[in-house]
Amino acid sequence: MSCGDHHDLPCTDVAQILFLFIDNEMDDANQHHAVEIHFQECPPCRSVMEHEIQVLSTLKQALMNDCREEAPRDLHERIRLQTAQLASAMEAGDPVQNWQFSHTQITTTIVDEFGNSTTIDIQSTTEIRGDF
Ligand SMILES: [Zn+2]
Repeated sequence: MSCGDHHDLPCTDVAQILFLFIDNEMDDANQHHAVEIHFQECPPCRSVMEHEIQVLSTLKQALMNDCREEAPRDLHERIRLQTAQLASAMEAGDPVQNWQFSHTQITTTIVDEFGNSTTIDIQSTTEIRGDF
């Protein structure tokens, strides 16, 4: 993607930080401003950015529509009971080594029709197991 014109921030640089910009995760305010200026000057990059925002919006909407399952009532109750038991066991000073901690990392990559890929990381699913 490039309009062929010179920009202070090259199109290739914009492509590398596009998702940080879209997700509003750029730490450097000057760099954020430079990307905004680039989008004003460069219609092809602006078009890619608008397309990616549309894809992400569609994806979020699909996830919101399809992932609205309610956990069963008895699961709510079991979690409430186990959390209370865990809290009282910890208060009573039960040794921590009796508990098992597991950490799950889920990574998925979505490729759109233009070959642009988006990787989603879900990193902090921590499960604490004990005998109840
Ligand atoms: Zn550009």
